[in-house]
Amino acid sequence: MNREELIKEAFKAMENAYAPYSNYHVGAAVLTKDGQVTWGANIENASFGGTNCAERSAIFAAYSKGYRKEDIEALAIVSDGDRVCAPCGICRQVLSELIPQDAPIYLSNGKENVDMTIRKLLPMQFGTEDVIR
Ligand SMILES: [Zn+2]
Repeated sequence: MNREELIKEAFKAMENAYAPYSNYHVGAAVLTKDGQVTWGANIENASFGGTNCAERSAIFAAYSKGYRKEDIEALAIVSDGDRVCAPCGICRQVLSELIPQDAPIYLSNGKENVDMTIRKLLPMQFGTEDVIR
């Protein structure tokens, strides 16, 4: 599956967003090395702290299926916003532990595309090696 196809999958996932408060819809698609795609969408909540972002939804769903960091090939994150949807701080922290440092992260809003990695998105990471000594 190429970059454009994975971005297309993320846009399909975006249709499942539950965003009655922000009306900002985000979709994500995780591609694993076995060719499978796992979707995620942003799921908001009236108690805003209970909201979950699309990329965390997708990566948690992939882990829930049994996939782990070494199985992950790429991640696409898309939105219907005016700008490309860059992951929020919490998602960067989560992704820094759960996906390979140099796995491609494709960001798109359908008009603009940016290719990133978690290494580029989150320099000077706090991670497992800081906690487990
Ligand atoms: Zn986020």
